[in-house]
Amino acid sequence: MTTHYDVAVIGGGIVGLANAWMAAKRNLKVLLLERTSVAQGASVRNFGMIWPVGQPAGELHDIALRSRNYWLELSEAGAIDLETCGSLHLAHNDDEWAVLEEFASLGTFGVQLLTPAETCERSPLVNPVGLCGALWSDSEIRVHPRTASAKIAHWLTETQNVDCRFKTPVVGIDDGEVIAADGTRWSAEKILVCSGSDLQTLYPDVFATSGLKLCKLQMLKSVSQPGLPSNLPHIASGLTLRHYASFEVCPSLQQLKTRIAEQTPELDRYGIHVMASTFPQGQIILGDSHEYDEAITPFDSTEIDDLMLRELRKVICLNDWEIAERWHGIYSKHPEVPIFSATPEPNVHILVGPGGAGMTMSFGLAERAWNQTIGAT
Ligand SMILES: Cc1cc2nc3c(=O)[nH]c(=O)nc-3n(C[C@H](O)[C@H](O)[C@H](O)COP(=O)(O)OP(=O)(O)OC[C@H]3O[C@@H](n4cnc5c(N)ncnc54)[C@H](O)[C@@H]3O)c2cc1C
Repeated sequence: MTTHYDVAVIGGGIVGLANAWMAAKRNLKVLLLERTSVAQGASVRNFGMIWPVGQPAGELHDIALRSRNYWLELSEAGAIDLETCGSLHLAHNDDEWAVLEEFASLGTFGVQLLTPAETCERSPLVNPVGLCGALWSDSEIRVHPRTASAKIAHWLTETQNVDCRFKTPVVGIDDGEVIAADGTRWSAEKILVCSGSDLQTLYPDVFATSGLKLCKLQMLKSVSQPGLPSNLPHIASGLTLRHYASFEVCPSLQQLKTRIAEQTPELDRYGIHVMASTFPQGQIILGDSHEYDEAITPFDSTEIDDLMLRELRKVICLNDWEIAERWHGIYSKHPEVPIFSATPEPNVHILVGPGGAGMTMSFGLAERAWNQTIGAT
């Protein structure tokens, strides 16, 4: 006898969790299957930055704000802890400041320009040397990346009646049934494949022609910095302005990109821009780099770590720069859409590839998918 569900979700990262929640909100009977004992993919390896300011004005920024509301809802329900910390984009060069001025003048995101003194008041981590000022945005949130996914899964189980099963690799889907590695089968009206960067186990033929790319990011965590206040804003550097689509509308961005390309091409080679966020015990998460597809190896590069630290020292001050942890994460990303979706067979939906904004966007993207496609069929 196979057990029957309304919805089976494969993958316990943030995309799978978000879609399981949207299904549960519709009073559907949901099964979530995760192959590891606790999610270990991109959803636990990130900065924990919920980052609406990085999304371009319009639909994507709206989705980010919808997602933000879902994070707040989870916090109010006691599922997770979060901080409404806001963010600072620091400018240590005139061309970076020009981009921030142009962005602030659009008036679309409710952001604010800060003087160097005002910037340093917001965070003791800011390096005041050469500081032109900063862009303040209050929409950003911090969640704890190492624990958020597990806590959401626990909450979905306890309060939303979602049947979450870990240590359950799914090896096939056959005629409305999900098949686990041990041969167990479950039937479901709808099956959602949220397999993250695994593009080989299920529907490899669909992924091969999807246009999805894999991206590897190197990350660092400092030792604890004593005496830091709580709720410090996330920090992004002028280099970050090259990275997020929201700044593409600024005419001065090209000049900034040209300077980096000419003066420090090694940063473009490894896709380096630098950001910092605090951990609850005062450690600072630092990153990151971007290497794609064939450039990805299992081995982390000390050259990349050293370049990140070189750039970080220009924009932030730490009492102790000793590095406590180094790791990398891999996400899948589509160059044109905020998440890749496909229906390889009736009632099977693939949802993978939110790229570098999956923590920010996944709840809003899941809401949109359920409203427009999954829930409508
Ligand atoms: C280093 C790094 C920093 C980042 N920082 C941020 C940030 O600060 N803010 C932000 O918004 N985004 C950030 N991102 C992006 C974000 O983390 C990802 O977009 C998001 O976590 C992807 O979620 P996912 O569920 O698609 O993938 P994953 O988290 O990788 O989850 C996929 C899950 O599916 C499971 N799975 C796969 N195949 C099977 C199978 N056959 N059977 C059962 N289970 C299966 C895997 O075990 C895995 O747990 C960052 C990413 C990285 C790597």
